[in-house]
Amino acid sequence: MKTFNVPVIYRSPLISAIKNKRKGQDKMKKDFTPTLLDFGAIRILLARHFGFCYGVENAIEIAFRTVDENPGKRIFLLSEMIHNPHVNNDLLDRGVQFLMDTSGRQLIPWESLLPEDIVIIPAFGTTLEIESKLSALGIEPLKYNTTCPFVERVWNKAEQIGNKNYTVIVHGKPKHEETRATFSHSQAATPTVVVKDMEEAILLGEFISGKKDASTFSTVFKGQHSEGFDPAKDLQRVGVVNQTTMLATETQAIADYIRQVMIDTFDLSPEAIPERFADTRDTLCYATNDNQSAVLGMLKEPADLAIVVGGYNSSNTSHLVELCEEKLPTYYISSPDKLRSAEEIEHWDFHHKQELMTTDYLTSKNPVTILLTSGASCPDALVEGVIRKLLSFYGVEQQADEIISQL
Ligand code: SF4
Repeated sequence: MKTFNVPVIYRSPLISAIKNKRKGQDKMKKDFTPTLLDFGAIRILLARHFGFCYGVENAIEIAFRTVDENPGKRIFLLSEMIHNPHVNNDLLDRGVQFLMDTSGRQLIPWESLLPEDIVIIPAFGTTLEIESKLSALGIEPLKYNTTCPFVERVWNKAEQIGNKNYTVIVHGKPKHEETRATFSHSQAATPTVVVKDMEEAILLGEFISGKKDASTFSTVFKGQHSEGFDPAKDLQRVGVVNQTTMLATETQAIADYIRQVMIDTFDLSPEAIPERFADTRDTLCYATNDNQSAVLGMLKEPADLAIVVGGYNSSNTSHLVELCEEKLPTYYISSPDKLRSAEEIEHWDFHHKQELMTTDYLTSKNPVTILLTSGASCPDALVEGVIRKLLSFYGVEQQADEIISQL
């Protein structure tokens, strides 16, 4: 896979050495067991895959290069480039400005943009409406485009099945930048509706089967369907695509559920299923699959707690947390500073969108075993910082350097 020029501050000698060793031993990426870092009183099981993905590195390279090559120019990002506060703050420090917040609220009015300004499209991509708006302002919309190719692949898949007269069901978070962009591209080709979870998939299933009154559709799926969506006509042939960072098991369950509803509603024989349900397979990206599989592999090992590092608005990171939470006390932190001490940890409760302080999180066990991973937008330097901070609580920080020399 292509390598990118990412600022060295995001890299970590320790994590790079571990990743390179594992990669050398498992070129086909079949082994999802974690790496054991044994420091005596504290054992860290590091996920096989975590950290910057292709799309994030690509976006970082383009954004930082654009800043370096255009001194004196006004540079804007449509919104956060990726969902990591450290990377976004570094760009803000270099003078980049955000036009919108992550929910699409305007921070800088469009009218203030000039044709000579630079506008960078983030890794999630953007809507066709925003592209048109930029064009109307005299700004070439795709000149500084960091849209991830794996997101574009979903748009292509939606368009492909749309051209075959299937309606597209997008499994994604309706307000997430990527889902808004996918919705926009998909609805240009075919009727489109977004479902955020299984509960909404079941509701949609009731419209497919006719159990729910079609006249209530636009209220139930308010803001989540294309204009003029007619459930009586537009739910005859469907296909499911997803936001690339959803939980793989949930996406699969939703696709299986909708498929079954189509089979039951239209009394389909196995041969007739493709006439009503497009085979999209899943459109999760490789990084989401690898990172979630690595967490599942890691969770097979006995451990006392899990720590997941990443931005608090990062979809892919929250799904790693969800998986860990099923088995262990799990702490979602954005940086090493959140490990206040050996006794106190400040962590994000993404279910209730609040930061919590927990005491005695490390337990008094000796040795204590910690599962550790991070999201696809989290710099490895932060994960190394977490390891070093944890080791400092046990007085064995220097052992991190010994590990690098042994790898
Ligand atoms: S998580 Fe996947 S789709 Fe999103 S930027 Fe990374 S590689 Fe691209």
